[in-house]
Amino acid sequence: MAIKAEYIWIDGTEPTPQLRSKTKILDDDNGTELADMPVWGFDGSSTNQATGDKSDCVLKPARVFPDPIRGGDSILVMCEVMLVSGKAHPTNTRAAAARTAKKYKKHEPMFGIEQEYTMLKPNGNPLGFPDDGFPAPQGPYYCGVGEYAITGRQIAEEHMDACLEAGIGLSGINAEVMPGQWEFQVGPRGLLEVADELWVARWLLHRIAEDFGVVISIDAKPVKGDWNGAGAHTNFSTKEMREDGGMKYIEAGCKALGEKAALHIANYGEGVEDRLTGAHETQRYDQFSYGVSDRGASIRIPWQCSVDGKGYLEDRRPNGNIDPYTVARLMTDTVCSAMK
Ligand code: ADP
Ligand code: MN
Ligand code: MN
Ligand code: MN
Ligand code: MN
Repeated sequence: MAIKAEYIWIDGTEPTPQLRSKTKILDDDNGTELADMPVWGFDGSSTNQATGDKSDCVLKPARVFPDPIRGGDSILVMCEVMLVSGKAHPTNTRAAAARTAKKYKKHEPMFGIEQEYTMLKPNGNPLGFPDDGFPAPQGPYYCGVGEYAITGRQIAEEHMDACLEAGIGLSGINAEVMPGQWEFQVGPRGLLEVADELWVARWLLHRIAEDFGVVISIDAKPVKGDWNGAGAHTNFSTKEMREDGGMKYIEAGCKALGEKAALHIANYGEGVEDRLTGAHETQRYDQFSYGVSDRGASIRIPWQCSVDGKGYLEDRRPNGNIDPYTVARLMTDTVCSAMK
């Protein structure tokens, strides 16, 4: 049997890049390790990555996962987009993330990203919203159970199983505050691993939802008004933070992030100002604060970490629609460059 390899990449849609993929049939004796994967190409003029006269872009395999949808020998191949010259394409944010991962390797940065998302009907309404008007106000939906509170659980469950089969470092799922809104968490994982796995987990979610006629949105504020937005809280630690006495490194990390708040906000996703309003468990986008247990702060130090005196920090500002390569790179650069 031939091997079906789904080559996945990130396109040039602005300001929020989107996933693309296509299938390559490999001979059954090809092998399924990264080193066995041939480079491939695509029409960059159809993905906002090239002009028609110089349309060829290159797909360089970066990570291989077993494909839980097709099963058997089928694989998912997460790729970097390259120019024909061999240099990284300007839309390739993984290349810069890889440089940062190498530079600060000795600090062993680890990430857990909480991906919030919203399931939409084909008409654009979230699941659980009536076709005209609104559901009962937020309150019972977060981590709820039962017909009136919860919609879309079958998709969330199938997605969880698929991620586990693919070897993605999933740490949990939960129903969220707005009807039709869910969350999954990837991590703790290293800088490149968490971002590769989050992108592939998103691909699996879109792909599974297709079969249910459901659209997945990672927009930061899918419904205006008194409804929670979708974030991607990014939990971060270095080796020093995880060791006994790590609290002083956690606090130093918070301060370093505060000094570069504007740079971070500018890279934390399209529409971040609409989500970080100061309401709905957020700090305003133009203010910076950190604190233990504080879900209204930019950065929260989890209560358990303050008890233990070590652990990690939670940057609550990133949107659901972030590029995790860029966010994980920036957090590592900012925090580790300030460390002695
Ligand atoms: P919340 O209470 O904010 O909803 P979650 O349980 O959804 O938190 O997510 C916390 C995330 O932090 C998980 O993905 C978890 O794996 C990750 N995490 C735990 N410890 C660390 C650590 N030391 N460094 C980085 N991430 C961590
Ligand atoms: Mn073609
Ligand atoms: Mn969470
Ligand atoms: Mn959440
Ligand atoms: Mn959180």
